[in-house]
Amino acid sequence: MTLGNTKICNHCKIEFPKTTEYFYMNPNGSLRYICKKCNYIKKREYEMKRPELYNKYHREYNKRYYKTERGKEIIKKSVKKYQQSEKGKATVKRRKKEIREAEE
Ligand SMILES: [Zn+2]
Repeated sequence: MTLGNTKICNHCKIEFPKTTEYFYMNPNGSLRYICKKCNYIKKREYEMKRPELYNKYHREYNKRYYKTERGKEIIKKSVKKYQQSEKGKATVKRRKKEIREAEE
């Protein structure tokens, strides 16, 4: 039961204050029937079911994100981490060998 200033999420059944802090707003001004957290979970579920759509969106998002300073920093870190792994070391070694062979 709601008392007017709270709203029960239709998904997790938890009661939240009836504000945009907990619920997204519909274009018509009413609040969504599921809380923000569930909305996020549902979105992820939907994305998992539609990998092509998700990957396309994700790629676009990453492309933009990795152009930012923060994104560049993350790439640098992950490259470093990869190069320190066994698989990464082998790749680096192979690359160096390929370069050496190309120069000869
Ligand atoms: Zn919820």
